[in-house]
Amino acid sequence: MTDLHRLSIRELAEGLSQAKFSSRELTEHYLQRIAKLDSQVKSYVTVTPEQALRDADAADAALKAGNATALTGIPLAHKDIFCTKGIKTTAGSKILDNFISPYDATVVEKTKAAGLVTLGKVNMDEFAMGSTSESSYVGATSNPWALDHVPGGSSGGSAAAVAADLAPFATGTDTGGSIRQPASFCGLTGLKPTYGRVSRFGIIAYASSLDQAGPMARSAEDCAYLMNVIAGHDAKDSTSVKKEVDDYVANLSNTSVKGLRIGIPKQYFNVVGLDADVKARVEESLKKLEEMGATLVEIDLNMTEAYVPTYYLIAPAEASSNLSRYDGVRYGHRCENPADLMDLYKRSRSEGFGPEVQRRILIGTYALSAGYYDAYYVKAQKVRRLIQQDFLKAFENVDVIAAPSAPTTAYKIGANLSPTEMYLGDIYTLAVNLAGLPAINAPVGFDKDSLPVGLQLIGNYWSESQLLSIVHQYQQNTDWHTKRAAIAEENA
Ligand code: GLN
Repeated sequence: MTDLHRLSIRELAEGLSQAKFSSRELTEHYLQRIAKLDSQVKSYVTVTPEQALRDADAADAALKAGNATALTGIPLAHKDIFCTKGIKTTAGSKILDNFISPYDATVVEKTKAAGLVTLGKVNMDEFAMGSTSESSYVGATSNPWALDHVPGGSSGGSAAAVAADLAPFATGTDTGGSIRQPASFCGLTGLKPTYGRVSRFGIIAYASSLDQAGPMARSAEDCAYLMNVIAGHDAKDSTSVKKEVDDYVANLSNTSVKGLRIGIPKQYFNVVGLDADVKARVEESLKKLEEMGATLVEIDLNMTEAYVPTYYLIAPAEASSNLSRYDGVRYGHRCENPADLMDLYKRSRSEGFGPEVQRRILIGTYALSAGYYDAYYVKAQKVRRLIQQDFLKAFENVDVIAAPSAPTTAYKIGANLSPTEMYLGDIYTLAVNLAGLPAINAPVGFDKDSLPVGLQLIGNYWSESQLLSIVHQYQQNTDWHTKRAAIAEENA
């Protein structure tokens, strides 16, 4: 079969359980596509064919023996931030370029237990700090829709791999938009769950109070299948929440769009730098939801101006603390011939960390230092609370909140945005992480250069089922999520 990569997760599951094709055939199909096409996309950091085929054979045996799960035998890609036993985990950083984890992240363990087959590890911004995936030490990944453009970041490899049909779906992480923005840039659906819904155990830490893992796929339905596998309490993550997990697939039609109140934040649609095409596509998608029975309600989110400065204080502060463990002693890159211990620390870290990571360690360390802690860090935490309260107030009158996922479509590779320009591009995603809320990106059309545009829907705590359900129904009434980049149409 030449078109296995066009099938949805549900169709793949049906095909495998009805023995229309085997997991080995499906896995080989994807490995061939990666071998032929990924030299153009550069989404994978590590491909693991032997292990994938071994897992595929085990999946086929389980399918035959009748002890398969709903997803047994379906391949996926993991962002290179999830620790994988026996397979290199780099987090896009030179400082980890020789790091092989002795254990699996809980998310990886869960996908294995579900019988999913890991194709390999995909590219990302160094330590998930960035919005283009260009800061990875292995180099940039291309956007399948226009190879001279970035796929977004930091989960750019995950987005590019799925958009080029080099994986049926993928895991990502989102600390300030890293699932939603690359999903938006690559025309995919991506869900950032409520903080605490998915275990952070074994995810290389960036900013621990903001980090959250989630699914990236073509449709809400495909995302729901992966959420069913990865969501849930984990005793190994102290901020993971003990709360019953929904059946996200069974709930796909449970939320009625009829009567749904969608909040439209006044402040969001007047942001300087909001691209006219992005604005137009998002407004058209909201019109469509209105036709489907939703009501649009104008709301105020008065803290909008505080999002970027608050996040870019708290995230670097946490990062500076998390990244202090990379000292050249315990793991990762170590400089040659250190003169003494200080020299070992200094040179290992200077050589191992890229410029954006170093910038954030410096900002974070400064903000946490004695004398500045109260003025910066404590103040940012207070503002963070106000941002959360702003959302909770809004949710008294609306069910979900709509926004673009990003003010623009994908940038050109090498556009060389200044740090401030890049940080401002995160305006629509950061507050969701600061408040710990769930949010989803759905593709809603293209700009004048045929680059994808995304709509973001933000929900109240634990509303993942509702968000997936709304997008699922939107996707049953539209076909944006079925559009494929030219490279995805190519056969291996
Ligand atoms: N672009 C944001 C940053 O650079 C968000 C990254 C993320 O979510 N990991 O921090």
